[in-house]
Amino acid sequence: MSTRQPYQLVSREWKTEDTVFEINGVHIGRDRVMIAGPCAVENQEQICTITEFLSKLGIRFLRGGAYKPRTSPYSFQGLKTEGLILLREAADKYGMAVVSEIMSEDKISELVEYADILQVGTRNMQNYPLLRALGKAGKPILLKRGMSSTIEEWLLAAEYIVSSGNERVILCERGIRTFENATRNTLDIAAIPLVKSLSHLPVILDPSQGTGIRDLVPAVSKAAIAAGADGLIIEVHNQPKEALSDGDQSLYLDQFADMLPVLEEIAKLDNRRFGYTREKVRI
Ligand code: PEP
Ligand code: MN
Repeated sequence: MSTRQPYQLVSREWKTEDTVFEINGVHIGRDRVMIAGPCAVENQEQICTITEFLSKLGIRFLRGGAYKPRTSPYSFQGLKTEGLILLREAADKYGMAVVSEIMSEDKISELVEYADILQVGTRNMQNYPLLRALGKAGKPILLKRGMSSTIEEWLLAAEYIVSSGNERVILCERGIRTFENATRNTLDIAAIPLVKSLSHLPVILDPSQGTGIRDLVPAVSKAAIAAGADGLIIEVHNQPKEALSDGDQSLYLDQFADMLPVLEEIAKLDNRRFGYTREKVRI
């Protein structure tokens, strides 16, 4: 069979039903997924404080960069292996799954050891050898949209991974570059329903990179869930003002907690709840 689009395996034409896969008790693509954590792992105290707080809210997915693709070579580049160890230890203490960025092929075996979902950043969406190698990594992949990529290019990037043997791909809209510079990126909310109509893969949204502004994150998160997003990946920090990366867009812990009830209410409207059970959790 061949489809009318240039991408095949990821298209709705190829497969009509939603792709659903289970990670840490959450059926990605059916339940909504909430992934939260700092932009980067900085030290043990930081990651433990954040993880403990998130786990009390019932969050099951912990994000944290250990290998950070920074615009400047002089900015904090991440704790690398040490960061992955700290992230894994913190997550294991609370039964959480780990999401962390893979920057290059030579680090796949290390990431596979420590992370449950490998994140491909916006800058690497067109790193085709990396995408092909991730088709054989045996772990789910969170594929960010390239900041200058069209939806077709993004779906073709996903096609590289799926056609190389890995169907567990989560697409993540994170904003694109436009003439507008009042926000860090221009968030393409319409991409959510559009990509979901074109592809059977789950689509989540990153309101943190998408806006660059902490106080915009709650409103944009609500919009994404209302638009049918399969989940969110959100940066939170115990001391955003001291953060070594992306502090301006990182939510305070209380700000994150305050935002959850309304997101849950919106998620209930089309009967696709978040895959965690806040009701059972006591803070
Ligand atoms: C991040 O999630 O911290 C990140 C670097 O994301 P992006 O690749 O979307 O900029
Ligand atoms: Mn970041």
